[in-house]
Amino acid sequence: MNAHAPQPPALPRRHWTAAEARAVMDMPFMDLLFQAQTVHRRHFDPNRIQLSRLLSIKTGGCPEDCGYCSQSARHDSGLSASKLMEVERVIAEARRAKAAGATRYCMGAAWRSPKERDMPQVLAMIEGVKALGMETCMTLGMLDAGQAARLKDAGLDYYNHNVDTSESHYGNVITTRSYADRLDTLAVVRGSGIKVCSGGILGLGEGTQDRVDMLVTLANLPEPPESVPVNMLIPMPGTPMENADPVDPIDFVRTIALARIMMPQSHVRIAAGRTAMSDELQAMCFFAGANSIFMGDRLLTAANPGDDHDMRLLGKLGMAPMMAWEHAPEEGDGKADDLPEGAPAECPRRAAERHEMPVPILR
Ligand code: SF4
Repeated sequence: MNAHAPQPPALPRRHWTAAEARAVMDMPFMDLLFQAQTVHRRHFDPNRIQLSRLLSIKTGGCPEDCGYCSQSARHDSGLSASKLMEVERVIAEARRAKAAGATRYCMGAAWRSPKERDMPQVLAMIEGVKALGMETCMTLGMLDAGQAARLKDAGLDYYNHNVDTSESHYGNVITTRSYADRLDTLAVVRGSGIKVCSGGILGLGEGTQDRVDMLVTLANLPEPPESVPVNMLIPMPGTPMENADPVDPIDFVRTIALARIMMPQSHVRIAAGRTAMSDELQAMCFFAGANSIFMGDRLLTAANPGDDHDMRLLGKLGMAPMMAWEHAPEEGDGKADDLPEGAPAECPRRAAERHEMPVPILR
């Protein structure tokens, strides 16, 4: 341990300044990783990983102009727009995902916001996937309070709405809706009782301070997101970002570590971009506190490593899938009477806590 390294503030804490967060981001790499892993072990079993599967239920033709996205109708990506998928097909895909080990099923539609005519179909998807015993997540664009309430009533567990980047860099990436619009939707989701999934994308031409500021925004929300996806840009042909500079892998790991330290109880997900990452880089991300990935060989319109590769990697690392009942300590807290039939009597997270590493820095 470098005795002169910047000392991160005590946990738990609710408010970060940009300067405090930047000091942590700039720590010597080994100190940062050790710090992140120490925080991680306070809240999670470090050898468990949450597995989600993402399905595009309505692809392309989106009126928004997100500069990284092949689904925008404003970019010449060659992607043709599809109609909203039939409910039965969505449920069949979810059933397959569950059989492959996914505990959460995420459904994404390329919309500015859901239209009333589509709501019954969307609600039926949530009810159908929920009936399989899976957690449900949707990303449908901006929501109003009435829409959020109906999604909640149908059984939606999570709603994804990324802030994408820092507020100051945001206008270089998207112009058709504002940063404030994004935060408004996150507030609506939180107010409805649905859990929040919100993160961003690295590789949009942002600087280190933008990455720090984005995490400060998320960590300082009235309640931090339960799920924080960190994407590495996959440059898509025909989009304004198709020639964006690649993200430095060490900088990516640093961002994961900072997210873990600032949002110690959130699931931090390595989302898009894993096809461009080596196994070693992904392992380093897990050590830095990432504990969630998307399974499968497709992520909306982009490639993903696929179940076989991921299972081999997790096997090599001695990591096991997290069960659905391990996800939400505030609801079940691992007590025996919250466990599904056949589950071990002790929550693995609690078992891990009994073997917690010493915590030399954090107070
Ligand atoms: S990221 Fe979402 S909102 Fe933006 S263009 Fe793509 S589908 Fe539309």
